[in-house]
Amino acid sequence: MTEDAKTECEEVRPLNEREVRFTWRDGHAATYSYAYIRRNCRCASCVNEWTHEPILDPETVPEDLTVRSIEPVGHYALKFEFRDGHDTGIYAWNFIRSVCPCPSCVQAKATG
Ligand SMILES: [Zn+2]
Ligand SMILES: [Zn+2]
Repeated sequence: MTEDAKTECEEVRPLNEREVRFTWRDGHAATYSYAYIRRNCRCASCVNEWTHEPILDPETVPEDLTVRSIEPVGHYALKFEFRDGHDTGIYAWNFIRSVCPCPSCVQAKATG
């Protein structure tokens, strides 16, 4: 299987106010909460560009965070405009895939 199949998204389907489901070309699928995506934001106001230290306190992101819009950025990324006003985060497909919250990915990461 090529790396491309892992980071090419077949479908982005909002499930409800709080969650969106990504289906990848390799058949993998997982549900992400918007709060989770927001907490993983890597923009300059959430993570220090030089030290990579987190600036965003994950505790300040409400569990029931919703989005105003989800827009593609070229062919490589997605931009989320969150209901809390945050809209500077650009999420590359491979990044979204790399933070997959499904149990098998979480376990794979934990065991290395
Ligand atoms: Zn951010
Ligand atoms: Zn996964």
